[in-house]
Formats: sequence, C-alpha cells, structure tokens
Amino acid sequence: MFQSLDFSHERDLTVDDVLRRVESYYPDADFDLMRKAYEMAEKSHSHQKRSSGEPYIIHPLNVAATLVKLRMDADSIMAGFLHDVVEDCDVKPEEIEKEINPAVAQLVVGLTKISKINFKTREEGQAENFRKMVVAMAKDIRVVIVKLADRMHNMRTLQYVSDAKQKKIAQETLDIYVPLASRLGINSVKSELEDLCLRFMHPDIYYRLAEKVAMKKSDRDDYINDTLEVLSEKLLDHGLKSEIKGRPKHFYSIYKKMTARGVDFEQIHDILAFRVIVGNITECYKGLGIIHSAFTPIPGRFKDYIAIPKVNGYQSLHTMVIGPKAERIEIQIRTDEMDEVAETGVAAHWKYKEGIHSGKTKLDWVEQLLEFNQNVTNNSEFMDVVKNDLDVGGVFVFTPHGDVFELRYGATPLDFAFAVHTQVGIQCVGAKVNGKMVPLRYTLKSGDTVEVMTSKNQTPSKDWLNIVRSSRAKTKIKQYLLKIERENHKEMGRDILEKAFRSYDTSIKSLTKTGEFDKAYQTLGCSNVDEMIINVGSGKNGVTQVLKAIPSLKRKVIENTEKEKIEEIDQYSQKLNQAARRKSHRDNAVIVDGLDDIVVRIARCCNPIPGDPIKGYITRGRGITVHTSACTRMDQAEMNRDVQVEWNPAFGFKHPVNVRVITHDKPGILSTLSKTINSIGVNIRSALAKSLPDRKGSFIFEVEVKDYSELLKTIATIESHDEVISVNRV
Ligand code: MN
Repeated sequence: MFQSLDFSHERDLTVDDVLRRVESYYPDADFDLMRKAYEMAEKSHSHQKRSSGEPYIIHPLNVAATLVKLRMDADSIMAGFLHDVVEDCDVKPEEIEKEINPAVAQLVVGLTKISKINFKTREEGQAENFRKMVVAMAKDIRVVIVKLADRMHNMRTLQYVSDAKQKKIAQETLDIYVPLASRLGINSVKSELEDLCLRFMHPDIYYRLAEKVAMKKSDRDDYINDTLEVLSEKLLDHGLKSEIKGRPKHFYSIYKKMTARGVDFEQIHDILAFRVIVGNITECYKGLGIIHSAFTPIPGRFKDYIAIPKVNGYQSLHTMVIGPKAERIEIQIRTDEMDEVAETGVAAHWKYKEGIHSGKTKLDWVEQLLEFNQNVTNNSEFMDVVKNDLDVGGVFVFTPHGDVFELRYGATPLDFAFAVHTQVGIQCVGAKVNGKMVPLRYTLKSGDTVEVMTSKNQTPSKDWLNIVRSSRAKTKIKQYLLKIERENHKEMGRDILEKAFRSYDTSIKSLTKTGEFDKAYQTLGCSNVDEMIINVGSGKNGVTQVLKAIPSLKRKVIENTEKEKIEEIDQYSQKLNQAARRKSHRDNAVIVDGLDDIVVRIARCCNPIPGDPIKGYITRGRGITVHTSACTRMDQAEMNRDVQVEWNPAFGFKHPVNVRVITHDKPGILSTLSKTINSIGVNIRSALAKSLPDRKGSFIFEVEVKDYSELLKTIATIESHDEVISVNRV
C-alpha cells in the first residue's frame, strides 16, 4: 500500500507528541521556544471551544501536526500553533514578535490577512482567486502552506458545522485551496482536500463509493498483492530493484472519471494505481521498458513528466497497462526524491536536513517570488516573474474589506476608485494607501490596501486623464467630461441664441413656430437642433452663422455683423463668468473664476508658477490661457477677454521652471550646484552646461518647484555659492 501521508484528526494530540515528531527529523530545533509558542496559543484560546465541543487548542495542535508531516520548519510549526490568536483572541502581532520571534509574527499576520480575503465565487474564475493568494504568497510562501494545513483540519472536522456551511466551505476549498495545493505540488494535501470536498458536497456519492470500495476490499487486497508480486518479479528478472506500492485511487479521481465518462462505479475498472520507486532516472526508463514488454500498454496513456516536469515541479513516468488479471492498471515510476516532491511539493523546500535548509530550487518560480520579494523596489521585475509564471497581468490591491482588485501595472488610486464603481471614481477626492494619505498620482503596488475618499461635490477634471492608466477609467472620465460639457454648452448656446434673437425682436420659440429654427441646423450641416445649440455654446458655430441661416433675419444680420461679433464674444465670456462656482480641484493648478472644467493652459512665454501674479485670457475656441500679470506677449490679433484666475492652493504638484546660473568656471561646479539644489529638496529635471569666454560657465537647470517662494529659496541657495555670479529665472 502507498504510505501516503495520513492527515486524520487526532483528538488526543498533545504538544509533547508534536515536539517528539519534530525531534525525529529536526533534533536541533529550539524546543523551548516551540513550547512557548504553544503555551501562548493555549492560554489565548483557553476559553474557546470548537463546534465539536472540544477545547479550541486541539485545532492549532492538529494544524501544527500537519505541518510536521509536511516536514515544515520550526517557524511554520509555531505559526501553526498561533495562527488564530491574532484574529480570534486579539493578541497583538507585537506580542508574538517579542515573545517568539519576528518571523512567526509575520507569518501569523499573513494568515490573518488571508482570512480576510473575500474570495469570489466560482463563476468569477479560479484564476483570480489564485492571484489573490499569490499576493499573499509573495510575502512568504509558508503563509499559504500553513493556511492549507489550517483548511485541511477544518475540512477534517467539518461534520460539526451546519449543512449550509459545510457546502460553502467545501466549495471554497475546491475552488481555491485544491488548485493552490496542486500548483504548489503538494499532492498529498490536494488529494486529501478533494476527497473531503466530495464527502461534504456530494455525501451520497462519497458514501456509496466508500461502501463499494470497502465491499471489494478483500478481493482488491488480493489483487493488489498479486500484481505487486508479478511486477517486482518482472523487474528483478532484469536486475532492477524497486519498491512497489499499490492503492485504490482517491475517491475524487474515481468520481471525476465517473462523471467524465458518464458511467457508474461498477464500470470503472481502473481504480487501482501502482507506484514503482527506483534508484535513479535511468532506472525509471529501464523499469518502464520492462513493464511495457511484460504487459500490454494502453495507447495514449504514457506520459513522461521526467523529461517535461509539470509546472509545479512534479516528475514521474505515467503509464497504463493491461495488468496480470486483464484489468487496466495505472503505473507511476519515479525516484524516491521525485516521490517526496510529489507528496509534499513546495513544502519540501523547508525540510531540514541536519539542521539546514536542503534548499532545492526545483520550483524556481517560488524561489524567484521569494527572492524578488526581498527586493521590494524591484516591483516591475517581480510582476514580470509573477506574470510569466502564473499569468498574472497587473497589480493586485485590497479594499479595506479585503476585496481584491486587479489593476494595470502603474495604476493609481484613481484607477482603483473607478474600478470599484464609476460613481466612486467621479467623486474621488483622495486616497489612503495602507492607512496613509497619498496623492492621486501615487503608483499602487501589489498588496496595498486602498481606501478611497469621496465627496458629493467632486467632479472629474481633465487633468485626471493624465493620472489614470486604465482605459476603463479614461473612458469613464471622458464620458463624464463630455456629458457635462455638452450640458453646459447646450445651456450656453440656448442663452446666447435667445439673447441674439431678442435684439431682432424674435425668440427660439417663435422661430420654431415658423419652422425657420428647425431648418437652420440643416443649413449649418448639423444633424439636429440640439447639435446646433451645442455648437453655438462651444463656439464651434458662431451665433452669426445661425442668424444668417434664418431667412427672415439674414439681411439685418449682415448689416450688424461687426457689432454682433463683439457682442457674441461678450456674451460668451459673460456666460463663462456666470456659471455656477464649483469646488476647486486639487488637480487643477489654476482656479478659473466660475469654472473648472475648461481647458486651462499655462502660457509658455512667461511660464507662471504659484505665487506669481497671474491673469487669464479666454481665447475663443481655445479655452483659457494663464500668463503672468507682467507678460506682454499676448496675441493681439485674436479677440480676447480677461477672466479672473487664481492659483489653486490645493494643487500639490511641482512646476518646472528654468533657472540660468552664471558662474566662474571651476572643475566640479556642475555637481556642486546640483548637490546644493538637491540638498534643499528641489528636484532637477535636466541641466544644460555651456562654457562662456573669460573662464565663465553658464548653466540652465530645469528645476521642479512647488511655488514662487520655493523658487526664490532655490535661487538664494544657488547665489550663496562664491563662484556664482548671477542667477535668473528664464
Ligand atoms: Mn484555524
């Protein structure tokens, strides 16, 4: 029989049992510390009972015992003892850190975090659930192994909870933990969990299978023993020593066969599996050759997982033959080492051999995840690894409630807000990441917990398009801006037209009655009346054009063209100033009196920064341009109108400014100046250096400053150098 790991619930298990088992493979473990961890757990859970009525501590003890069976390290086992104390007993992670060690505290924190993840239902896909776990695994893969041990024991004792809860937990296990155990290559845990899921999800099928398998037991045992004998004889005939085990397949795999083939148990004959363990890889293939020549292989059932291991590191040869009694049997051929990896998968990495990690790197992806995890700044590379190996496409962040969202790499809190809900995005005023306020431009990292702050008064601004990375958010912002713009333009257009018509003693209403208004839009090439009104509001169609398209007004209009032109501009600018004042955005550098969803451009000629006195000009069809009050380079050819503008104190981003520095030429002066500028916290975007006659140097630094006062400070700091002759903003 296979000596598969036995994960049964042990009701009389004690800490001494657990520690004795640890000693058998890890004699140098710190048993005092492990006992201390256990005692801490026992004390914390002392007043709690499980659904079965047993003292709660039996659960962490069994979880730890499972970890011992998987040959996990001492920290994992201690985390097994303590895995529920933070969540269920209000023990602070700091206490674990102080009393035990930081590593165990970290593991318990990770476990607590996993328990807060809201896993999606099956319909939403296993991949996503799996990715959530990857986020948790990225910190320390042991977290997930302890979690699997926890889940296994909960499944083992699931009969004590309500039917509904049994089904729910079993489904979740099947959707999340089984694929996870499979991906981590811990097949012993995977098969065990699968059988337990079947037991609680389809008890009728499970017990029928169990009964049938039991009924055939004596026959089967004989059959297995006979087959074992024949197999090992054949192999020995060819000088191959082997250890052979045979067992019925797990119920779940029989069940899957039954459902896949649509047949009943009686019709499933290949319920037996044999495992041949040999000394090395050459012997694996030799054994295969012997078996294939002695028994008839079933075509298409041979798989070589030695040459091409499964992605989880599993290696073995699989074949199916017509056995000695003319029944199909499955045979797996592998080495001892491969067998261990097959049973314990990634857990094999923590196996202690003479007190040190055996540190095999067969599961490269886990190794890489762990390695990359140590270098958190290498986030993009880390994501590449995750992506390649697990097909994960972006950044995974949590809501404060533990829901996970996948966002594009480089996503900001604003992307997150729109991912949560369009309305949340539209009203987003700020965000906290891991409890700290961050700018909306902040780049989210996997594992971040993001909390969005909203305000009913908030509306998106055009700058947001530069902040978001996801096309969904971009589209939503554009749609919103367009909708608002159209509404505003429509309202403005209607007002402008009414006013213009009034001076000709008519109105939209009476021109609609005569049918002239409805004809005008066709003349202008608009598709409907609304479009014409909107075009007037946006300035795309001049009011004069509309007037000229109305036959009864045409002649008078031409006479008044000049006058009208001016009036039109006046009305437009007046309208802009009349519009309701909205709350200012932190994302707009400049607040335009009355409006904030209009294009605001900072004039390049004078490049004003906060603190500079400024003036704004409305340029028809081109929005508002902001100049310094002193700037004279206005395009006089255009008809412009002033508009009141002021700096937005809430705007937190830096403005680039060019500063020219003339110095005496001296070696190293550029780096000295750069250091000086950086020393006051000002970032240099670029620097241009030029030699001047008379051993002088000219430098232009493009610095990023918050406002005018920071610019002055920067200039003063540069001036304080002896070599510096002059400093000017350019
Ligand atoms: Mn637990």
